[in-house]
Amino acid sequence: MRVLATIEELRGALDAERANGRRVGFVPTMGYLHAGHASLIDVARSECDVVVLSIFVNPLQFGAGEDFSAYPRDLESDLEQCRAHGVSYVFNPNAEEMYRSGGQASIRVTAGEMGTVLCGRSRPGHFDGVCTVVAKLFNIVGPCRAYFGQKDAQQLMIIRSMVRELDVPVDIVGCPTVREPDGLALSSRNAYLTAEERGAAVVLSKALEEAAASISAGESDGRRVEALLAERVASEPLARLDYASCVDPLSLRRAEVIVGPVLLAVAAFVGRARLIDNVIVTLQGTTGYKAG
Ligand code: AMP
Repeated sequence: MRVLATIEELRGALDAERANGRRVGFVPTMGYLHAGHASLIDVARSECDVVVLSIFVNPLQFGAGEDFSAYPRDLESDLEQCRAHGVSYVFNPNAEEMYRSGGQASIRVTAGEMGTVLCGRSRPGHFDGVCTVVAKLFNIVGPCRAYFGQKDAQQLMIIRSMVRELDVPVDIVGCPTVREPDGLALSSRNAYLTAEERGAAVVLSKALEEAAASISAGESDGRRVEALLAERVASEPLARLDYASCVDPLSLRRAEVIVGPVLLAVAAFVGRARLIDNVIVTLQGTTGYKAG
């Protein structure tokens, strides 16, 4: 496994791999890797000849007062996990390498309307930061298959749109959310939780399960599903709801009447962690759910 910090080195290495007929798989991350990230690596390895994983905590996608400085980092453990899962290249640039114009990006990719709903309402500019860094990473890595978690459903949908609209030669692959045995979605931010908060955090996945069950039982009013989700999260005193939404999984617009698949998405603060979770409910059942 090679650990590279410069754009030039990574480009050279991956161009050589492709010239040798090897298919490149790419897993972009912010590090502090867990079994959710590992599942993306495993899928990438099963479909590609070489896997590159990037570790970059992208300042552009954090708002003022958010947890950029506090975001957990542990490069040694990340490299160990990458080795154990057969990653060929780790790309670990610093902010100067990624944003040469003094740490700022004067030219950005904007996420448009899809970036203003759900998480975009309380995190203005977040998805522009995500699009900008992912567009840069795709230009650095080059033609590849790129693996993203369903855990960040809005991000996955926006990246799919970006690639389609900007004709980026990258195939996007969505992978199911990996969960703890009690249902909590794995997240680097779970590290912020105290033992008591960790117990309370399960309310997000439980609320989603209950709301999904109500749809399976015949509920077709999107607003009633949202109310059920919100009430269930509010029943946990340690959780403070940000949003509870029932939307079309492609457009992310509110599903007033449920006639096809919907994305149920929630965000809540538990202690100092802002946690998100979601499920896609089809009238046949719930998908994208993988027990940890
Ligand atoms: P992050 O390091 O949080 O930016 O995440 C990097 C990638 O890992 C993103 O595509 C996430 O959606 C994905 N990911 C994070 N948590 C999980 C999880 N619990 N299950 C599956 N994928 C995940």
